[in-house]
Amino acid sequence: MPTDVLRQDAEQYLMNTYARVPISIARGRGCRVYDLEGREYLDFVAGIAVNVLGHSHPDLVTAVQRQVQQLIHTSNLYYTEPQVELARRLVERSFAHKVFFCNSGAEANEAAIKLARRYAHDKYGPDRYEVISMLQSFHGRTLATLTATGQEKVQKGFEPLPSGFAYVPFNNFEALEQAVSEKTAAVLLEPVQGEGGVRVADRTYLAQVRDLCRQRDILLIFDEVQTGMGRTGTLFAYEQMGVEPDIMTLAKGLGGGVPIGACLAIDSVAAAFVPGAHASTFGGNPLACSAALAVLRVLLEGRILEHGRRMGEHLGKGLQDLKERFPNVKEARGLGLLQGLELTVDGKPLVADCLARGFLINCTVDRVLRFVPPLIVTQREIDRLLDTLAQVLHKHV
Ligand SMILES: *Cc1c(COP(=O)(O)O)cnc(C)c1O
Repeated sequence: MPTDVLRQDAEQYLMNTYARVPISIARGRGCRVYDLEGREYLDFVAGIAVNVLGHSHPDLVTAVQRQVQQLIHTSNLYYTEPQVELARRLVERSFAHKVFFCNSGAEANEAAIKLARRYAHDKYGPDRYEVISMLQSFHGRTLATLTATGQEKVQKGFEPLPSGFAYVPFNNFEALEQAVSEKTAAVLLEPVQGEGGVRVADRTYLAQVRDLCRQRDILLIFDEVQTGMGRTGTLFAYEQMGVEPDIMTLAKGLGGGVPIGACLAIDSVAAAFVPGAHASTFGGNPLACSAALAVLRVLLEGRILEHGRRMGEHLGKGLQDLKERFPNVKEARGLGLLQGLELTVDGKPLVADCLARGFLINCTVDRVLRFVPPLIVTQREIDRLLDTLAQVLHKHV
């Protein structure tokens, strides 16, 4: 089917929730994808920080194929090996003691918010329920998670919003200190704000937040939906930040493209969930968990984390260099392979120009170009992107 026919059908049959780029992707391999006409693109979007192993990674393909032949789904009324094994591996490799599985980032954050509320409710009574999150954050599109998201444009028109949420500026400890009260159950933040424009949390700030939360028995929730699974150079971003949260959420990279989310917590907090308190029909089904197990195995047993860290440094340096050279670049920032370039101009035309030159990149909050390639991206592929960005930035000066 030609792309223009597909576009017409999409307009007719799909709800109009996305402003799509005018190509249709038919297949992918490594860091490359191919459209219906067979044109090749280097993929620096990776399904929005999802395809950490790139496209069609043989280990992921084999794991999914095997599992599909054996068992796809059973519900959580029964035990399945892949789910328990995945939970065990996540626990062994993190601060957490227990895991709840779901299907997306928003659902993982819903679980985290519910868990925090139930913990505070059981321990302190019904007046302790508030979740404080950050301005310019992003936590999902369900009613609770869009309310936790500190961006008006995400909330507009969906009122009345659930109550019990408050917002403070990111990286500003005094503001948080003033906002906490007897009502506060949890502080929710991203170690690196992704959708909000690639902003990295300060280590000293996080240490102060951690201390405050510990003193007041306020739960610290890290939304690592985007930063988790090697994206920032370590398996989880918190490992580089010198602090551990009480609850952490994962999704995007977890299944390497197969939908799965997770909410992890320390024992004393996880104990607030008892049978009937929370559930998901699909959550942690054998198919999704086998995919995530394959991703974890490749990340932990291969050299990909280390490779991704080095590639992140290379990309970060290259973007910094572009900032020095071009007046229309305001700032280059990021951590690992979650990198951004803040422009003084609208990013959309640059995304279109990169597409025409065979590169998939993405723009967030209008002016921040975001680069989140698969962790297997090579130095040569990064250099090709940097050359192309230089051409495109020159054109739009
Ligand atoms: C993408 C994202 C979400 C939402 O994930 P979905 O799978 O789209 O629901 C939540 N938090 C962060 C930090 C994200 O980047």
